[in-house]
Amino acid sequence: MKMYEIPQSIDKYLDIELECSCGRTHYVPIKSVLVEAGAINKLPFYVEKYGYKHPYIICDEITYKIAAKKCEELLEENKINFKTVVLKHLGFDEATLGEIVINMPIETDLMIAVGTGSITDMIRYTSYKLRLPCFTVATGAPMDGFAASIGIVNVNNLKATMQAHNSELIIGDTDILKTAPYRMTVAGFGDLIGKLTCINDWELARIINNEHYCGSIVKLVKNFVESVLNDSGRIKDREPSVLGDVMRGLVLSGAAISLYGDSRPASGAEHHMSHYWETVMEQRGEVHAMHGEQVAVGTVLVLMLAELLAKTKPDFEKARNFVRSFDKDRWCEEIKRCYGSAAGEVFSIEEKAGKNNVASCLARIDSMEANWDKIALQLATLPSSAFLKSVLDDIGCPSTPAQIGIDADTLKDTFLYCKEVRPRYTIFQTVYDLGLMDEFSDIIINKLY
Ligand SMILES: [Zn+2]
Ligand SMILES: [Zn+2]
Repeated sequence: MKMYEIPQSIDKYLDIELECSCGRTHYVPIKSVLVEAGAINKLPFYVEKYGYKHPYIICDEITYKIAAKKCEELLEENKINFKTVVLKHLGFDEATLGEIVINMPIETDLMIAVGTGSITDMIRYTSYKLRLPCFTVATGAPMDGFAASIGIVNVNNLKATMQAHNSELIIGDTDILKTAPYRMTVAGFGDLIGKLTCINDWELARIINNEHYCGSIVKLVKNFVESVLNDSGRIKDREPSVLGDVMRGLVLSGAAISLYGDSRPASGAEHHMSHYWETVMEQRGEVHAMHGEQVAVGTVLVLMLAELLAKTKPDFEKARNFVRSFDKDRWCEEIKRCYGSAAGEVFSIEEKAGKNNVASCLARIDSMEANWDKIALQLATLPSSAFLKSVLDDIGCPSTPAQIGIDADTLKDTFLYCKEVRPRYTIFQTVYDLGLMDEFSDIIINKLY
């Protein structure tokens, strides 16, 4: 079948091969998504429908009470054998992986993750490695990983994006979601709103780097971001139907990752900020804000950066001299200072990506010089940072770095070095290549603190 030019509802994208004019065939191997009141009651039906006999439920103490206990009761009523592990290791790292495998019965033929981002990511990753199918039962909707084919796992102390696979079934029972703290829904909204700057990064990568691009997926993402932005007033009123809308938006966002095959449609500079903050704050022993809250703050900051860039007429010769002066030894020292025990991972990312190689930087500057009119037009499509900040303030979502525990020094390091957390091209690289990051970040920090 042909990929839809006009965005459709989620079920139209599931388990169907879509031939796209971008040259790729898009496919999401999710069989069903149930977002409705009482959806959890259908769990035994789907276990049996897909022929599983030995489900293994993975939860933590909190999600056990919220939904895993109910899953157990439903499976028991239907005489389905199962085992449950209530996780004690909640680092979502090598130790958690060990706990999951150690407790898993050898006859397990299905893993059921009950929780939000961390548990569901971990299980999509673990089940992928163990070549087992998995289901997801959401207990809140604070992020968009449910329908993704990648998972964020802590590896060697760095939040790493790992190849995972899709849940066959995603249950978003709105009766359960409405019991989740309001903060979670707001965080889910924050993760969705981050797609504004993330899609901008993809457009910049297309213009500057000639990166592969899918217009149909971009339309799909823009469409659900727009609809959730229109919903923002109702989020404040905590209407149950809005929870369903946010959940569906988050599932669609994850599906966009799966359709495309990597997280390009859903993760850009705003996510790099979030990953950086989590990495450094965990090392400092500080409690960090929720992923979606960080993404919301990151989105405002990236919009501020984009506004400064849009107002600038770059001096390309100056930019060339700037990138030629790159001091690798100093950069290594700075990465060690900022990333601490995660520095080794960053070095290996850069080894493969070579983002900072002088030749790569110069090639991108040539491309920017030739295409500056297109870049300016793209930047002009973004909403203002003031508008987004007012939407976030209105619903009680953090909108400034200080609100999520980020001080001015950490923010400075974030602007300079968070782009090293992934090989992906974003507006941070654009501004860095032009030799403007130091100046722009100072302007933003002076405004905020
Ligand atoms: Zn996210
Ligand atoms: Zn496509």
